[in-house]
Amino acid sequence: MRQSLVVGNWKMNGSIQSNQSLLEALKAGMSTVKNSEVAVCPPFIYLQQVSEILKDTAIGWGGQTLSEQDSGAFTGEVSANMLLDFHSKYVIVGHSERRSLYAESDQLVAEKFAKAQAAGLIPILCVGELLEQREAGETENVVKRQLDAVVNSQGIAALSNSVIAYEPVWAIGTGKTASPAQAQDVHAFIRQQIAAQDVNVAEKVQILYGGSVKANNAAELFAMQDIDGGLIGGASLQAEDFLTICQAG
Ligand code: PEP
Repeated sequence: MRQSLVVGNWKMNGSIQSNQSLLEALKAGMSTVKNSEVAVCPPFIYLQQVSEILKDTAIGWGGQTLSEQDSGAFTGEVSANMLLDFHSKYVIVGHSERRSLYAESDQLVAEKFAKAQAAGLIPILCVGELLEQREAGETENVVKRQLDAVVNSQGIAALSNSVIAYEPVWAIGTGKTASPAQAQDVHAFIRQQIAAQDVNVAEKVQILYGGSVKANNAAELFAMQDIDGGLIGGASLQAEDFLTICQAG
């Protein structure tokens, strides 16, 4: 039985004041979350604040991306060790917004994954197809290519210390959610791909669904056999909604 995990991706949202009230409300509501691990990924600049408010709670935190470099002349970048300085547990790699808006290639995503893992962070590897790729029947090929970029460079065992998030790009921030059956099909496909190389890793790895998960659809998505929780954007900014989603895990 895999542990359910719900991660909030705040994207470029928040302020010192709004973070404080959101996190205090989450802390207060955590006693209602029985089955899920919970984490939030704020903008880097708020990691100190988040780590102070959440220390000694069951809620973890992490970055939304990281540099594939260790240190040096890389203006604007943040390294794995910097995330660890603030006791981050997780880091998202290969989010579709990073892939599309910041031209992150499969290879770069694999390098970031490797850097995160080598430092002791748990990478949350995002994969998912564009609408036109789904319509062209390319979903499985796209997801396999994105997964293979990591597996071929890091080996299948690397996935056992990671989380995978299936996020169909057409569902992210659009209010269009994949149906539970659509999501389950792709999650099962991902698990089969991994099982073809290592059954134990396939059984163990958490595969989250992301893409317009809301308080009113989380339970039916998370009830599917191969969906082990969610990566939540917009709804993670509202304490009540996020807690309802966490309760569904
Ligand atoms: C995301 O940012 O990973 C995401 C799934 O966003 P949303 O929940 O807003 O669709």
